[in-house]
Order: sequence, then structure tokens, then C-alpha cells
Amino acid sequence: MAYMGKILSVDVGKEEGKRQSIGESFILKYLGGDGFGAYFMNTIADAKSDAFSPDNPLIIAPGLLVGTPTPTAGKTSFFAKSALTNGWNESVTGGRIGFALKQAGYDALIITGKAKELSYLLIKDDEVAIKSAEHLKGKTTRETAEEIKKDEGDVIVASIGIAGEKLVRFACIDCDERQAGRGGIGAVMGSKNLKAIAISGSKDIKVAKPDKMYKLTEKWYEEMVKHPTFEADGKYGTGEFLEWMNAERGTFPTRNWREGVFDERKEIDPYYWAPRYAVKNKACIQCVKPCGKAFVMKKYEGALDGVEYETLFALGSNCGVKNIEDVAKANELCDLYGIDTISAGGAIGFLMDLYENGIIGKEEIGMEARFGDGDALIELVKKIAFREGIGDLLAEGVKRAAERIGRNAEKYAVHVRGLEPPAYDVRGIKGMALAFMTSPRGACHLRSGAYALELTGKFWKYEGVDRFSSEDKGREIADMENFMAVYDALGICKFSRGIYLLNFEEILDAAIGKEMGEDELIIIGERICNLKHIFNIKSGWKKEDCKLPEKIHQPIPEGVSKGSYVSKEEEKKMLEDYFNARGWDKNGIPKKKKLEELDIEEFME
Ligand code: SF4
Repeated sequence: MAYMGKILSVDVGKEEGKRQSIGESFILKYLGGDGFGAYFMNTIADAKSDAFSPDNPLIIAPGLLVGTPTPTAGKTSFFAKSALTNGWNESVTGGRIGFALKQAGYDALIITGKAKELSYLLIKDDEVAIKSAEHLKGKTTRETAEEIKKDEGDVIVASIGIAGEKLVRFACIDCDERQAGRGGIGAVMGSKNLKAIAISGSKDIKVAKPDKMYKLTEKWYEEMVKHPTFEADGKYGTGEFLEWMNAERGTFPTRNWREGVFDERKEIDPYYWAPRYAVKNKACIQCVKPCGKAFVMKKYEGALDGVEYETLFALGSNCGVKNIEDVAKANELCDLYGIDTISAGGAIGFLMDLYENGIIGKEEIGMEARFGDGDALIELVKKIAFREGIGDLLAEGVKRAAERIGRNAEKYAVHVRGLEPPAYDVRGIKGMALAFMTSPRGACHLRSGAYALELTGKFWKYEGVDRFSSEDKGREIADMENFMAVYDALGICKFSRGIYLLNFEEILDAAIGKEMGEDELIIIGERICNLKHIFNIKSGWKKEDCKLPEKIHQPIPEGVSKGSYVSKEEEKKMLEDYFNARGWDKNGIPKKKKLEELDIEEFME
């Protein structure tokens, strides 16, 4: 109930598919989404293989509640070895691909191999076919979806753009104009010669207790609509707290993490641009609080996608660009070419920093690249997507680019284990500094979601948390990671703003006919987090890799967080605390007792 009981595996090279059944005990142990990814990556993938190896599986798994009426339960995760870190990667989208997969009768899709030519995978209920996509070569993500829909009818399409074809290491996958963005999941898809996945299905996604599900859904919709953040989220999207992050927290990374306040932020603040330019709202499947926007501007023709919080930082403040129209254009190009905006902004901000510090010159770049230059930003996005000139180097991500440049460029490279970080200046949010180090996919805000707790001081069972302190962060971050893994396994959006917290017992009873309490769910979350970590260990992870960028050890120069930074001692101590809280040894290896407790001891053998 709420699940379909089958996993579909397709080798796109051999053009073979197989189905396997899963039962209730598997669901109760792993739930769905994140749990399935953690299980299958450990059982199918060769952790030592290269991200672009045909053996590296690309796994798609909707959360357990996807396809039920549960509000905001529309999230589907993609899993593979990361093209940036060569370790664990997961990337979540709010597009309908997971819903369609369930309607076709499957709880997960595992893709291996490499197609002989550029292809798309078509799944229509029991029909599975690999079709040529040679005619789609070079097409944008959205042109690809439109062309496939013309040929195949009413299918849901997840597609890559030119960046995925060119193996840009931070290429993303687009579905319904929502992106599975991080860690180069689109490059892995490109390495399989797979331009798109198109799915349609006709099966009902049943729930165990429909009446109960209906009543709960109504109640939660009401709670969501009455929530104090509802109006602002709907009007201004995820960027609604941009001003607060600057003025009241001083933790909005600016000009490649030189500063924590962007003085020229007026126009990139949604309170400025949304009332002037937004023409419609855009939401993920199953959501009543649309945080996406579309807007029409003067400088560029046509409707552009509204810019969400992380991108306002990455393509805005991080590159010093204050003109919202330039930021929106760069954002749109990223979406059409299929590039993760956070990593793109990280790479371009890094280049601008090198340019301004005289480490790399105009001749080498082929143009001037100063902070604040919107035209350079747009030009560099194009160069990255097509791997042209300097774009070919930036397409490798900040870590590899710095290694190739040499000349002490690493000092300016802001990444953790190869992944460029999101919009939280962790010098003034120390729990998040730890979360960047411990996230299984590299610098990430969503695996722990601890920014909400750290920045407000309270969330869930925590109160009085001090963001400037590095004390007692190990337990806090481990708890938050376990908690967020439950959200990802169920497919619930984390911008549901804590409405659910862990009151999932009732909805799980309605969906699958089993009440599962907070303790039980948190253990599943902990199991999932440990499995991701085990995969990383098998792929070569070492505790020495969990280190913060050099810039995080330098004080924030201005604003309300002025003077705050994470010292090397704090970095070391927080990591030790975390390993202890996790029941891992001093090198970060899970102890046998912990693995037995979580019933996953066989995965470390
Ligand atoms: S809050 Fe935003 S990200 Fe979350 S489900 Fe709704 S539209 Fe999607």
C-alpha cells in the first residue's frame, strides 16, 4: 500500500530489463526514496568504479508517500556516484517523474550500462524500450521534453541538456522545470548516453486507509495554509529570507565567500523583484505553497524562471552581480543547458576571485571577469555548458579547476570534498560548518537542514542553540541528518516548514497500514545515514577529506557576524564529537555494535 512492490532494472547497453519484487519487510526497513537509494547503491554499485563507468548505476526512487495525497509529498531522488566527489550522491526533484514511475508499477528504477548512441528510455507500464535520441543532440532540457512528448504522447520526461551530454561535472537533470541539481547527476546520465527518461503509467497508487488519508490530508492542508510563513513563501518564494540573512544574521556569502553581507542586494531581494516582475507561481507536484515563480523582464525577451534563494546567492552575491535580470538570465541558461546553479555560481565566483587577485589573467580567460559583471556571468555559463575555452576548466568544478591551475588557487577554492557549498556562510553558523563536513555528498544544507535550527536557535527537540558556538554540535547534526533522511525517504518537502516534524505515525498508518512512531522512524533515518557513509568508505572516503575550505578559517569582515570564523581546532573537535555521537571510531568508521543495532552489519563486510 502506497508502494507498488516492484523494482525495475534496465541495462541500457545490453538493452535488457528485469523486475524484482519487494515486500512489506523491505518497506518497513528502508521506507522508499533515500532508503532505497542507500540500500541499492550498497548492493548494486561498485563503490570503487569511476562515476562515468557504465557500471555506476543511476537510481531513481520516489519517496514512499509520493503518489498519495499527502501535502508536499512529491519528492523523487536520483542516486549515483558523484561526478564531482566520486563518492555518494543524491539529488532530489519535485518533478512528476517519480509519481509516473509509481503509476507504471515501480518503486524504483535502476539504470546501468551505456547506450550505443544517444538514447532515451521509455517506460509505459510494462513496455520498456530504448529509443534513439540522436535527433535531440544539443537540445535544451525543455526542447527535449517537448520533442519526446510529441512522439510519445502523455509522458513525464526527465532530461539533460548540452551540459549533461558534454559531461560537465555539475550537470543536472530537469523534470517539469524542477531540477535534480547537485553533484553532477546529469553528467552521470550523459555518460550513459541517456538524453532522457520518459514514463507514463496507468496504475492506481492505493493507500491502506483512504478515509483516514483524506481526513489527514485536509487537516494538513489547512495547517499549511494557516502557517505564518505561508503567505511570504507563496509571494516571494524561498528567497523571502534573503534580507534577514544579510541584515540580521550576516551570513549571506558574497564575492566568493569574502564577505557575509551583500551590500548591493536590493534588486535581487524577492521583496523587490516579485511584485514588479512575477507573472505566475510554479509548484512541485502535490504542493499548495508554490515557492517557484516565473517573471517577465525588460532586458531579456520572454518569460524567465524566478530565482530561488540558493541561486540568488550563487549567481548573484557570490559573483557580486546585483542586477536581477542578469541573475535571472544566467539562471534560465543553467536550467536550459542543464547545469546546477549552485556549482555554476561557485565556479564563476572562484574564477572572478582569481582574476581580481591577479592569479589568472584576461588572456587566459579570454575575457575580463570582474565581480559584478553580469555579461561575464552569462557568457561564462554558456562557456561552461559547451565546455568552451575557460569553460572547459570550470566545468570540472572548483576543486579540480584549482588543482589544474596551481599558483595557490586552492586558497580561493570553496568546496567540501569537491562539492561547492550553498548559501550559508558557516563561519557564523558553526553547526552548519560541521554539517558541510559530514554531509555524505559534500557541502550541503539539505542533508541536515540544520540551518533552520542554527539560525533561529530552535527547531524540533532543540532549543537555545548558539550558532556562534562549536560546542555540542556532534549530536545535534547527527540527529538532524537522521531526521532529514526520514523526510527524503518519505518524499516530503523540507520547506513544509516543520509542519510535520515527526508526526508521521498517522499518515503512515493511513498510507501503508502501519503506525510507526518517532523512535522507529529516527532509527530508519540513522540506518540510511550510516549506509550512505558506508558507501563513501567503500569508495575511498577518509576523515582527512572532511575539511573546511581555507576561507572558513578567516573572520567574517563585517555585519552582525563580524569576526566569527571556524578555527582548525573547532573543526577537529566538532568532527570528533560527531563521530562519537554516531557511534563511529576515531577515524569515522562505524563500530560493529552500531551496525548490529541498525541491522546493517553485512554492508561493511
Ligand atoms: S514548498 Fe516549494 S520546493 Fe517544496 S514542494 Fe512546494 S513548490 Fe516544491
